[in-house]
Amino acid sequence: MAKIKGIQIVKPEQLQIIEMEKPQIDEKNNVLVKMKAAGICGSDVGIYHGTNAAATYPRVIGHEMVGEVVETGPGATKVKVGDRVIIDQVTACGHCYACRIGRPNVCQHLAVRGVHIDGGFREYIAVPDKDCYLLPDNLRYEDAVLIEPTTIAIQACSRAQIKEDDEVLIMGMGALGSRMLSIAKLSGAKIIVADIVDEKLEEALAAGAHHAINLLKENIDEKIKEYTTDAYGPTLSIDCACTKDSLGTLIRIAGNASRVITMGFSVTPTEVTNFGITSKELDIRGSRLQNRKFQEAIDLVKAGKVDLDHKISHTFHFLDAQKAFDFNETRDPSIRKIVLTFDD
Ligand code: MN
Ligand code: ZN
Repeated sequence: MAKIKGIQIVKPEQLQIIEMEKPQIDEKNNVLVKMKAAGICGSDVGIYHGTNAAATYPRVIGHEMVGEVVETGPGATKVKVGDRVIIDQVTACGHCYACRIGRPNVCQHLAVRGVHIDGGFREYIAVPDKDCYLLPDNLRYEDAVLIEPTTIAIQACSRAQIKEDDEVLIMGMGALGSRMLSIAKLSGAKIIVADIVDEKLEEALAAGAHHAINLLKENIDEKIKEYTTDAYGPTLSIDCACTKDSLGTLIRIAGNASRVITMGFSVTPTEVTNFGITSKELDIRGSRLQNRKFQEAIDLVKAGKVDLDHKISHTFHFLDAQKAFDFNETRDPSIRKIVLTFDD
């Protein structure tokens, strides 16, 4: 059996380069993809540190998977050898309540590549053809990785039922927050962003946000009153910071009858009161992964409505994954998105 290399989190805080069997295509996983680029996501960092409540170990992580089709089996009609693709990370049972109502991203038996089953930080992966999506022609492999976080943003805006007359607060302007801004602004809504890094706020303003709040230098309660009509508060709040305190803050400043979207995976208790939710009749909605949003994201890129060109900040060869994770740990202000590459 041919062997390939992969990046495995053996247990929390232990990252290892492993040799594993090269995947073989079969009736179900009928497409073999040679990995070209894979993004490091906040959730990968969480699995590394043991703070992702969903993950199981040992695990080959990575769910932002871009590559080239190198082999197909019978029944593979969606892609052919040579196609450049991104792979959907969600696998679902197809039978449970969530699957039956069309929400496989929260399947009772959900198996996410890179979280519950082995993912994309390895040289080859075998997947069903239906999970492969063709990349836009002129998008580099490294940049195409950002299609995945874009799908996450599309999912959150879909869960939020964002509309043109919303006044939206996006908390956190990291890789996910900036993707959220790029999708949320397509609705025509007013958008306020908050973060602790001035450079990220400036980039957000340049990218179409209407107001920016530096959480270290400004009082968010006051600024939200100033920036929303009649000091009403956001009609939609999206938590892309996902810290212990961000949900409580969003509930406190949310406008009456508004929606609050959570996306975090922390299990650290946070103080939320009945009154905080009931008195304003808030809709608190979780948004997890994405529900078949890849084609929508790719179509937005093709139409020029979402720009993914040269938005990543750093690349490392995948065998230097430890270096990449260590560098991410420095919280260097230049970090936007770190991508692993697989060139020979
Ligand atoms: Mn991701
Ligand atoms: Zn299911």
